[in-house]
Amino acid sequence: MQQEIEIVGGGLAGTEAALLLADAGVPVILHEQKPVRRSPAHKEDGLAELVCSNSLRSDNPHNAIGLLHEELRRLGSPVLQQADRARVPAGDALAVDRVAFSDGLTARVRAHPNIRVVAEEVRELPAELCIVATGPLTGEALARSLAEAVGAEQLAFYDAIAPIVAGDSIDLSVAFAQSRYGKGGGDDYLNLPMTREQYEHFIDEILQGAKVAPHPFEEPRYFEGCLPIEVMAERGRDVLAFGPMKPVGLQDPRTGARPHAVVQLRREDRAGTAWNLVGFQTRLTWPEQKRIFSGCIPGLLHAEWIRLGQVHRNTFLNGPLTIARDGSLKARPHVFCAGQITGVEGYVESAASGHIAARRVLARLRWEEFVPPPGTTALGALLRHVTGEAHPEDYQYQPTNVVYALFPPLAERVRKADRKPQMLARARRDLAAWAREQGMTLGPEPACAEELRP
Ligand SMILES: Cc1cc2nc3c(=O)[nH]c(=O)nc-3n(C[C@H](O)[C@H](O)[C@H](O)COP(=O)(O)OP(=O)(O)OC[C@H]3O[C@@H](n4cnc5c(N)ncnc54)[C@H](O)[C@@H]3O)c2cc1C
Repeated sequence: MQQEIEIVGGGLAGTEAALLLADAGVPVILHEQKPVRRSPAHKEDGLAELVCSNSLRSDNPHNAIGLLHEELRRLGSPVLQQADRARVPAGDALAVDRVAFSDGLTARVRAHPNIRVVAEEVRELPAELCIVATGPLTGEALARSLAEAVGAEQLAFYDAIAPIVAGDSIDLSVAFAQSRYGKGGGDDYLNLPMTREQYEHFIDEILQGAKVAPHPFEEPRYFEGCLPIEVMAERGRDVLAFGPMKPVGLQDPRTGARPHAVVQLRREDRAGTAWNLVGFQTRLTWPEQKRIFSGCIPGLLHAEWIRLGQVHRNTFLNGPLTIARDGSLKARPHVFCAGQITGVEGYVESAASGHIAARRVLARLRWEEFVPPPGTTALGALLRHVTGEAHPEDYQYQPTNVVYALFPPLAERVRKADRKPQMLARARRDLAAWAREQGMTLGPEPACAEELRP
């Protein structure tokens, strides 16, 4: 009999992986702790539960998430198939009836002759070939076992995400490139200088700005090293000016003076298409972040926000340090991880991660090398994030949604308006070439995608 694969967690990633493996003829044991035990966010008994919004976000491939939908559809993803069946009208977003979505996938799993579902909480990493897909709210016992395997410092329990801004939307007549005391490369950081008045106004705004209330299961217990900016401001009006906004070692070349405070931007990718606001993790609501950061930080008036800040409970591995090239844990080569626990963020990204994990396990079973989709595709770009390839060396690993900033830049400079369409065309070309090389048949490319331009 063929080796059974254990999958721990029947969420977005685990359900996708279980169905793909089972359809390929591999027997699967799917351990799902519901209804015996539940995370604080899971309320229903079915698999692939959408714990919050019923939107799988934009279905337009000019957004990276829409391209990820398209790639998963073309690869025969069970999660996307069911999302399309359970679809409800929502403009160009892919929104679903959450009950029909979960019920359909649950029925398909339960009816599958190659899948056995076991309702139990797994408290230790399995001893045999497995996929762990227990999500952002992985319970304490399994998290302990995982931490023992990879090292406690490589498993985080909260994300602390700072906003990211598109490089070409920063006003370079305000920003100046300089590292503190001239350390490191001269253009590793961009600095946005503030006068005392601008700084005081900024502090008033972030103190008054609307914040996202923590879920009842999220104790606002932050690491001192990554406190949200509003928490620092509450501790004292000068705390930020002595913390992430400290101007020491910097001199504005235009005035020759040290600014009162600076917002530092650090490269998110080597090409400088995306820049991270250093130390700006925050619970301010997204509309407030846009209003306050664009309105109060010099040089960001026309900022295009690639990602906004957030802080929530989120169990995730330090992907680049713990996950090997073939997707298994460096410390436990029989364990593959999938979903949000690998540092991807979002329903579809988690399903995509489950999809890739299943293909990796299949390759392992067949003694083949798994060739990942190229980094120029949405699937490959997500993998570039998890392996750290998309980021500079000193990148502090945090979860991310799929965004075009994770993709390698185009070989040639093109007009901003043409960039995404060209990245989309490249992604389609490269996915097709990859599938051909792997001997895989892709579903059809959508015919009318060009009309969907934003
Ligand atoms: C409060 C909250 C709100 C969110 N809102 C959104 C949103 O609006 N949009 C969005 O895109 N993403 C949202 N997310 C993120 C989203 O939940 C994840 O991206 C996605 O569900 C992760 O998929 P996953 O398969 O990795 O984990 P999950 O979907 O969480 O699945 C994990 C599964 O594993 C099971 N499990 C856990 N531990 C064990 C164990 N030890 N033994 C057996 N089974 C176990 C769980 O019961 C669960 O079914 C939210 C997350 C949270 C916590």
